[in-house]
Amino acid sequence: MKLDATDLRYITSDEFRVLTAVEMGSKNHEVVPLSLITQISGLRNGGVNKIIGSLAKRNLVSRVQNAKYDGYRLTYGGYDYLAMRAMSKRDTMTSVGNQIGVGKESDIYIVSNENGDEMVLKLHRLGRVSFRTIKQNRDYLGKRKSASWMYMSRLAAQKEWAFMKILHEHGFPIPKPIDQVRHTILMEFIDAYPLRQAGLIHGDYNEFNILIRRDTGEPIVIDFPQMVSTSHTNAEWYFNRDVECIRRFFKRRFRYESSMYPKFKRTMAQGVADFKLDVMVEASGFTKKDMKTLEDYMEAVREEERDDSEEDSEEEEEEEEEEGKESQESRSEIDKDGGVASEEEMSRGRKPVSEDGETTPS
Ligand code: ADP
Ligand code: MG
Repeated sequence: MKLDATDLRYITSDEFRVLTAVEMGSKNHEVVPLSLITQISGLRNGGVNKIIGSLAKRNLVSRVQNAKYDGYRLTYGGYDYLAMRAMSKRDTMTSVGNQIGVGKESDIYIVSNENGDEMVLKLHRLGRVSFRTIKQNRDYLGKRKSASWMYMSRLAAQKEWAFMKILHEHGFPIPKPIDQVRHTILMEFIDAYPLRQAGLIHGDYNEFNILIRRDTGEPIVIDFPQMVSTSHTNAEWYFNRDVECIRRFFKRRFRYESSMYPKFKRTMAQGVADFKLDVMVEASGFTKKDMKTLEDYMEAVREEERDDSEEDSEEEEEEEEEEGKESQESRSEIDKDGGVASEEEMSRGRKPVSEDGETTPS
């Protein structure tokens, strides 16, 4: 997806109000009715009609017609825009450059600030895959009746941010975390090549997530949304999988097999247990419950991919439409922790859209 940041700073305040109203309405409507957008934005009818049209033309929202009513959906472009605008208001980033990475669940851009310092903006893109299994197994979502792409992407960014902060504060070799808004993370740009290109690792996901600094050769680790605590039920399994990945590489590439390699229990006993990462991350505000929600979501996606790899996408689209209708009826609660002010609060005027576009208490 291409990012268009040309008018990051020059959107009119009314346009911004309407865009934010669509975001807020999305909290409990898959398709936000125009009447609700008008109500939340607090603008006149005619004005909103015109503005929403221009936002749709710029792909910040998309118009959706369903059986009951016409409405609008915030697009990834719109969500990106809101996040980047908030960062640009805080002066942490001011312009967007080239895309340097496309993961299945993220897009990576080079961006810069007023001083021209290059940084990396990581936009999480959970929910690019179908939500079918997730909707079937939605118990874990509790009161939240649907796993929205906005919510899951934001959780992933918040989790990654929480881990990056803690790791950075403790001197681990990772990119310096700079800012976090919605589904995005702003971090230090590492001028590097992936370890896989250095000919040292291939064959598993680690090869992409260890960067070798061009100047010093220092390895820098990136990509943390899947990180787990050493007290996680399956910690030993995750630990062994990572170790195995490196061992397999040395075996294949250098025919080198050592009997000495990190073992989970011994490593834990050697004082790693003093480093209570999970506790620190939780203290930072990313709770165990958030972690579990995200983990279950990721697991559900993986399961779905395994099960349905042969099914054709047309069928999936149809089913998704069906599900969309269903979940609209069942969704009436206002999320307390969804990251934006509730529309109720907005329409009562208790929580106006703040200048930096952030309605989340941070
Ligand atoms: P994903 O979860 O999609 O794998 P990553 O965080 O691993 O996302 O980023 C994808 C790719 O983007 C990386 O493999 C790397 O090439 C590049 N990249 C990510 N963060 C940085 C960074 N801070 N500096 C330089 N390159 C980066
Ligand atoms: Mg990666």
